[in-house]
Amino acid sequence: MILCAQDINKFFYTQNGKQIEALKDVSLSVRKHEFVAIVGPSGCGKSTLLNVLAGLYEPDTGQVLINGSPSRSSSVKRGHISQADTLLPWRTIMENVELGLEIRGMAKKERREIAAMLIKQVGLGGFEKSYPFELSGGMRKRAIIIRTLAYAPEIIFMDEPFVGLDVQSRDELMDDILKLWQETKKTILFVTHDLAEAITLADRVILMSARPATVKAEYLVSLPRPRSVAEIKFTPQFIQLHKRIWRDLSNEVMKSYRNEASS
Ligand code: ADP
Ligand code: MG
Repeated sequence: MILCAQDINKFFYTQNGKQIEALKDVSLSVRKHEFVAIVGPSGCGKSTLLNVLAGLYEPDTGQVLINGSPSRSSSVKRGHISQADTLLPWRTIMENVELGLEIRGMAKKERREIAAMLIKQVGLGGFEKSYPFELSGGMRKRAIIIRTLAYAPEIIFMDEPFVGLDVQSRDELMDDILKLWQETKKTILFVTHDLAEAITLADRVILMSARPATVKAEYLVSLPRPRSVAEIKFTPQFIQLHKRIWRDLSNEVMKSYRNEASS
C-alpha cells in the first residue's frame, strides 16, 4: 500500500462557532500504481478528504500514512491538480510547464527537454511560446496536468479537474489521462461527482456518503485496458456497473438534499 488512511475525522468551525462534521471515521488504502476515484454528493466532504490524504489538512483524529510515514512529513513527491486554472498568465506554456522543475532548481536545458517532450505527448506542440489566454480551456488544463507530471510525482491528487470544460474537451482529457497513466503508472486519486468519469478512468470507485462523509461502498472496475473514452460507455459492463453504483450514489444525493433542507 502506498497510502493508508485510518479512522479519519475532520471538523470545521463556521464564523459563528457552528461545528461542521466533514469526515467521519474514514479508512481507506490505495495500492501503488492504482487509479482510485472518489465519488459522492456535492458538499459531502470529498475535497476535504483529498486534502487530508494529500497532507494539506491535518485531520482531527486518525492518521494518513504514505509509504508508512505520516503524510504531512512524507518525502514522497506529490502532485495536486484542482479545478482552478492555475497557469501563470505572464508565462508561456513552456515556461508554465517547466515551473515545478525550475523551482526545484533543475538546469534550464534539462527542464526544457522534459517540458518539450510532455508538450508534444499531449498534442500541444506548436503552442510552446503561446500564453495561457491564447489557448482553449481544455488545452490549458492539459498544460496544468503535464506541469504536474513534469516533476515526476509518485502520487497525483486530482480534485474535479474537468469542472467547467465542455464535453468534448473532457473526453479528450480523459483519453490523455488514461494514456499518461498507462505509460507512467502513477498512483492517482481522483475526486469527482461525475460517476461516468470515475468508472471510465479508475480501477476502483469509492463511494462517499452524504455529509459527514464516510466510505459507503467500494466497487472494482474490471473493465479492460487500454480504454477508449468514446467507446467504453456503450459497453454492457460499463452500463451495468454504472446502474449499480448510480442507485447507491443517488440515495446519498437524496440524503444530502434532505439534510440541506432541514438545516
Ligand atoms: P465536496 O468537495 O464533497 O463538495 P467539501 O470537502 O468541499 O465537499 O466540503 C465539505 C463540507 O465542509 C461542506 O459543508 C463545506 O462547507 C465544509 N468546509 C469545507 N472546507 C471548509 C473550511 N475551510 N472551513 C469551513 N467549512 C469548510
Ligand atoms: Mg469539492
